[in-house]
Amino acid sequence: MGRGNAMAEIADEHERTMAFAEIALGQLKALRQAATPRNYEIWYTYATGYSPSLNQTINETLARSGTLSDADLEQIYANFISPTRLTDKIDTVGARVMDEINQVMSMMDAATGSANNYTESLADVTNKLGNTKDRDGIRAIVESLVQTASEMKKDNHKLEQRLSASKQEINQLQENLEVVRNESLTDPLTGLSNRKYFDMSLNEALDASVERSEPLSLVMTDIDHFKTFNDTWGHLTGDQVLRLVAMSVKQNVKGQDIAARYGGEEFALVLPNTVLRSAITVADHIRRAVMSKELMKRSTGQNLGRVTISLGVATARKGDSMQSLIARADACLYAAKRNGRNRVISETDPEVAQGSSEAKVA
Ligand code: GH3
Ligand code: MG
Ligand code: MG
Repeated sequence: MGRGNAMAEIADEHERTMAFAEIALGQLKALRQAATPRNYEIWYTYATGYSPSLNQTINETLARSGTLSDADLEQIYANFISPTRLTDKIDTVGARVMDEINQVMSMMDAATGSANNYTESLADVTNKLGNTKDRDGIRAIVESLVQTASEMKKDNHKLEQRLSASKQEINQLQENLEVVRNESLTDPLTGLSNRKYFDMSLNEALDASVERSEPLSLVMTDIDHFKTFNDTWGHLTGDQVLRLVAMSVKQNVKGQDIAARYGGEEFALVLPNTVLRSAITVADHIRRAVMSKELMKRSTGQNLGRVTISLGVATARKGDSMQSLIARADACLYAAKRNGRNRVISETDPEVAQGSSEAKVA
């Protein structure tokens, strides 16, 4: 009968999951969104109602603009889904550390108990010794003493072994936490650092450059006409291209350089101890690396042509904040877009100033 119940529960569970899945797919279709795992997960969560704030955000966004843009979806995923995953993992590791500590504590209690017993038997023996006159009596007392001492030694040995196993376990858990921490700072699609890590490290690098009076340069990059690429070849193929661009970025940085996915199809490079001239060279290497690759759709062997990227380069000035430095690199990136794309523009190039005066006139 218990088994029958369990079977019924599994069937129920299956039906519920399928119903959620249908709703999720229905939403993807109705809103004509790409059926990526990320979007599916968002709508699946929506259908379950597990995250009321996710549902509220989606409802409000739909009421306001009638659709969910890629940026909306990315934001929703980052706000409501990624954090719970990570928190779950951290909670699991935390619970295991607590469990380990509790086990060791109770062994310590047991050991303290046996040490107390030992002290008690010593006191007892001292009493008995006072009253015993014959050799046999004394021998019996000494034997019991030896017996107790050897039991204690065994207990201590066990405790030692347990403590050493526990130490290993905790070291292992610490490594796990380190892995989780790294995951929380890595962009899963490209393997580059994520925006959170970029923000942290640009801030640090800026402080360090002031402290050591060293130069610091920043490169911002954005894929050219990527929307058209996605529309033509599909979002999943677009994602493959993102990986490819990320690889070109990675292959051109070294040492203390930081390469990050700044946003959807935007990448950023923090180059400590690097003057503008050298940063421009790095940027141009990346640009050439990307445009030199002929893209092929793996599943069909279809030739997809090439993609290009535009890059903006700026170098830190006295009194710069992270925002002001990013803003200058961004202005260069937009100048690169305005002037035909597939190029590197730095803040010493005349195109940047032209753009800003045009903007003022307009
Ligand atoms: P531009 O040359 O001016 O940069 O043109 P663009 O079409 O690239 O314009 P923009 O940079 O504004 O386009 C962003 C597009 O990038 C929108 C979306 O289709 C695509 N995109 C953003 N994030 C992702 C992602 O994670 N995966 C995929 N496949 N595409 C993305
Ligand atoms: Mg963009
Ligand atoms: Mg773009």
